[in-house]
Amino acid sequence: MAIALPTDETIAAIATAVSPGQGGIAVVRISGPQAITVGKNIVDIPGTKPWASHTILYGHVMNETSNERLDEVLILIMEAPRSFTGEDVIEIHCHGGLIAVRRVLERVLTHPEVRRAMPGEFSQRAVLNGRIDLTQAEAINELIGARSTKAARLAMTGLDGGIQLRITELRETLMDQLTELEARVDFEDELPPLNRSEVLNELRKVQTELQQLIEDAKRGAIFHQGLRIALIGCPNVGKSSLLNRLSRRKRAIVTDLPGTTRDLLESEIILEGVPITLLDTAGIRATTDEIEKIGIARSQEALLSADVVVMVYDLSLGWTKNDKALLDQIPSQVPYLLVGNKADLQSTTKTTNPKQRIEVKNPCVDVSAKTGEGEEALTHALLDVCGAHETQGILLALNERQRDLAANAAVALDRVNEASNQALPWDFWTIDLRDAIQSLGEITGDEITEALLNRIFSHFCIGK
Ligand code: GDP
Repeated sequence: MAIALPTDETIAAIATAVSPGQGGIAVVRISGPQAITVGKNIVDIPGTKPWASHTILYGHVMNETSNERLDEVLILIMEAPRSFTGEDVIEIHCHGGLIAVRRVLERVLTHPEVRRAMPGEFSQRAVLNGRIDLTQAEAINELIGARSTKAARLAMTGLDGGIQLRITELRETLMDQLTELEARVDFEDELPPLNRSEVLNELRKVQTELQQLIEDAKRGAIFHQGLRIALIGCPNVGKSSLLNRLSRRKRAIVTDLPGTTRDLLESEIILEGVPITLLDTAGIRATTDEIEKIGIARSQEALLSADVVVMVYDLSLGWTKNDKALLDQIPSQVPYLLVGNKADLQSTTKTTNPKQRIEVKNPCVDVSAKTGEGEEALTHALLDVCGAHETQGILLALNERQRDLAANAAVALDRVNEASNQALPWDFWTIDLRDAIQSLGEITGDEITEALLNRIFSHFCIGK
């Protein structure tokens, strides 16, 4: 790596989530040459146990000026280089919640040798000190942010070095070809001639692999980003009941009065590994009720921001004019799924399949929010409409940054092909090949500037 940031400063931050009344314990992490000195300075340890590496000490964080005990703590000591950052690290395990842990951090920061860590600074130091590579640091961030088991599993592949390995292999293939080409640029006459089609073949293999990775990344992204599904339907068709059934939590208020879902309700569920935000909406219809009007305006916004719309109608009433009017409000670019609810009442219904009434190419599913009938078919159809079923077999997913760089590399390799088609000399090939190598190096962190690294880690939270 071409950069060396000064890491002689000692930094501290809360490494665990801070939430009122939550978390039995919390961890304050201190990293840098003064970490252990700071610990000794602020914590009172009974007895004579030494501050040895990879041991745990028991004690109290003391007020700076008085004898007040601020918290009862355990201290984990990790001397360089055997720590997450590769520097001297101490972790103060104090009490959780909001106040206790903040008091401990504030106390740590009273020490003149310590400053507050910036976002992602611990991870950045871990990368700079060679403890982990860039893709692993990003994977840790993704693991922490994972909203489903599948997202966590994909992050673990990155953490295990899967991305680094794949990209490094591809980059090395390109570097081998570059070496050959550069040798021809300099000593064409002294070396055996190079077989153009063999070189192109090697490059094409790399390009195909890159394209596969880009495709997988696009499909895998839904495990991280999740999907927004807007639930629409006329009043009383059973939207809230369906939402309750899917989320198995009583989130929305279910009543017999039309228009009771007055506001937009969001509820998060995981369907086959895909995090899904369900947006329940007030029935979109003309209203004079002010509060309901707000709900309706929001529903329309929800429609526009949704990846998929689920439109519910009442099988016991059949497909009505109002249903049709609502269906027409779905923006044409948003895919939708028609769900006929109250299938349990179907024997007494005037049901007409909307497929026969209107031009619906989209799938239709019949369910009963009351009995649960058709729930599985609904889940299946929903994931189908979202394209989530195409994600089977993805073992590795580049994140957005990595995906863009892989795409840059693929485009650069395209240009090499162009150079070949136009029978341009080797130097032209080498320019684009170097571009491709550079892009892959930015994924692995082998070729990265300080500014870029700062930008990547600034997206991390403080404490990571
Ligand atoms: P929303 O206005 O579309 O959110 O509708 P609700 O979920 O509030 O439901 C309206 C009424 O229909 C309530 O009385 C529900 O109990 C009833 N309901 C909802 N789903 C079903 C169903 O599948 N079968 C039957 N029989 N009743 C249902």
